[in-house]
Amino acid sequence: MTVPLPTATTRWRCTLCGNLTRFDVTRSSKVVEYVHLDLAGEPKIEEREVLSETIESVRCRWCNAADKVELVDRPGAGS
Ligand SMILES: [Zn+2]
Repeated sequence: MTVPLPTATTRWRCTLCGNLTRFDVTRSSKVVEYVHLDLAGEPKIEEREVLSETIESVRCRWCNAADKVELVDRPGAGS
C-alpha cells in the first residue's frame, strides 16, 4: 500500500470522510544523531541528520481509515 506524498501545491484528503487536517503518520527514518553527554553521563541530542525517510501509513484521525488518502489541491493552488 503506497501513500501519495503531498507536494507544495497538494494536500492529503481522507477519501472516506473528507478530513483534510488530522492524520496519524507512521514514518520510518534513518537518522544520524550527534549525542553530547555531560560529565554526569546525561545524553543530549544536539544535531539530527535525516538520511532517509519513508512514510509507511497514514491514518485518518476522524474515521480511523488507514491509507485512504488522496491528493487534492491546496487552497489557492492551481487556478
Ligand atoms: Zn477519514
